[in-house]
Parts: sequence; C-alpha cells; structure tokens
Amino acid sequence: MLTNFHTHTFRCGHAQGTPADYVAQAIRDNADCLGFSDHCPFPHDEIDTWSEIRMSPEEMPSYLEDVRRAAKTAPFPVYAGFECEWSSRYASWYTDVLLGEQGAEYLILGAHWLSRGRKNVYAPRLADADSIRDYFSQTLEGIGSGLFRILAHPELIMADGLGWNRELAAGFADIIDAAMAQNMPLEINGYGLIKPPVQTAQGMRLQYPVDEFWRLAAQKGAKVICNSDAHTPDYVMRGAVNARNYAAKFSLDVVETIF
Ligand SMILES: [Zn+2]
Ligand SMILES: [Zn+2]
Repeated sequence: MLTNFHTHTFRCGHAQGTPADYVAQAIRDNADCLGFSDHCPFPHDEIDTWSEIRMSPEEMPSYLEDVRRAAKTAPFPVYAGFECEWSSRYASWYTDVLLGEQGAEYLILGAHWLSRGRKNVYAPRLADADSIRDYFSQTLEGIGSGLFRILAHPELIMADGLGWNRELAAGFADIIDAAMAQNMPLEINGYGLIKPPVQTAQGMRLQYPVDEFWRLAAQKGAKVICNSDAHTPDYVMRGAVNARNYAAKFSLDVVETIF
C-alpha cells in the first residue's frame, strides 16, 4: 500500500500547489490513499501564532472545499485534515471548530513550538535543558489530549544540530511511551530527507529523521507511519516512498493508514 497523510498546499504560504494538483500527482503515482494536513489556522487573538506560515481562519472553508472537490477525482480515499500545534487554549478550537463545525476528518500534531506567554518559540531554536524539558512537557500534553492521529516529525527539536544525549533520550522515551498509550503512530518525515544536512558535534547528519530516535522507537515497538510532508505536488508520494526506504533500515512496526 502507498499512502500519505501529511500534505501541504499553497494556502500555508510556504508550499506550492492546489489540492487538485496533489491529487492528480498521487493518481499518477498509484497512491492508495491521500490525506491533506495543511497548517491549521488559529483564531485572531493576542498570541503570535505565526500567521505568515498558515491559512487564515477565513480561508478554512475554501481549503476544505478544494480538498473535497479534488477527492471526487481520485479512485482512492482522500481525507481533509490539519497539522496543528498544541496549546491547551486551542483545545475547543480543534474539537468544536476544526473537527466539529468544519468537519475535518483528522488532525496531526506537528509540535513546532514552545509557548512562552504571547510568543511561541520555534522548537529547533531551544537549546537549554529547561526549555527542552518544557517543550517535551507541552508535546506530551498534546499527545495526551487524544485529539491527534499522528505525531509528525517527533525529532524536529534536533533539526538545528542538537546532539543526542541522555536527557534527550529520556525525553524522547516519554514521548514514544505517550504516543504508544494513545495508539498514535510516530511519523518518519519524508520532507526531512530532502532538506540540507546539518552540522553537529558528532559530524553531519539529516536535520530529521534522526537514527538514534528511530532505534529507540524500534526498541520500544512503537507504531510508525511514513509520510512525505509534501510542500510541492511532485513530492506527494515520492516523499512517502523515501520515508519507507528510511524505515527499512530499522525493524519498525510500520502502519499504512490511520483510518
Ligand atoms: Zn509546512
Ligand atoms: Zn508539515
């Protein structure tokens, strides 16, 4: 089976292509299932939710409508969802608006930030032990909310070159345990596989996925899903294949679908 549940569109402002473009490519690539998960909008309030990298709340109906229209052209199921950040203040936004009123079919947790008052700090920029601990706590809370079907790029925090150490391993062990308790697959992210490598104290490596993390996930027997995180239509299924090739290096319990 060839599936992908992590797809962006032009609406987030840093990806290209319409839902129709992605579906057309997925048809050419013999996909069995496709899910759209563009960065969710947030209500306008005093918090800086990085509006420049996401659709506005006003655009949400058009996004979902575009996905549903494109779905009609596919010989396989196409699902409409969102990639979301966690903050408890948005719990009802997710349940009542995105999943409720708007009828999104799934949400994935892409924990890109650590909330600090009105600001949100990008995870790879976190360097000190306290911030990293806080980031893990916030992510654990998101996993525990039960609202999300996939934990996207779990090792995003390592993207700027953070080295593997005992504290990080302990934090990731908690993340993996929590995801397993929710029956939530961890994502091998195909987008990371085409990003420029990063310099670390231990030499060059991919920003993500990070081998140490996936060895730990394999050891624990976590469920894993291989997604492209496509930001261009050409990569919609190619990235999902790349992620599967990466997964093959470990003995991971790979699942093909969340539905
Ligand atoms: Zn994105
Ligand atoms: Zn994404």
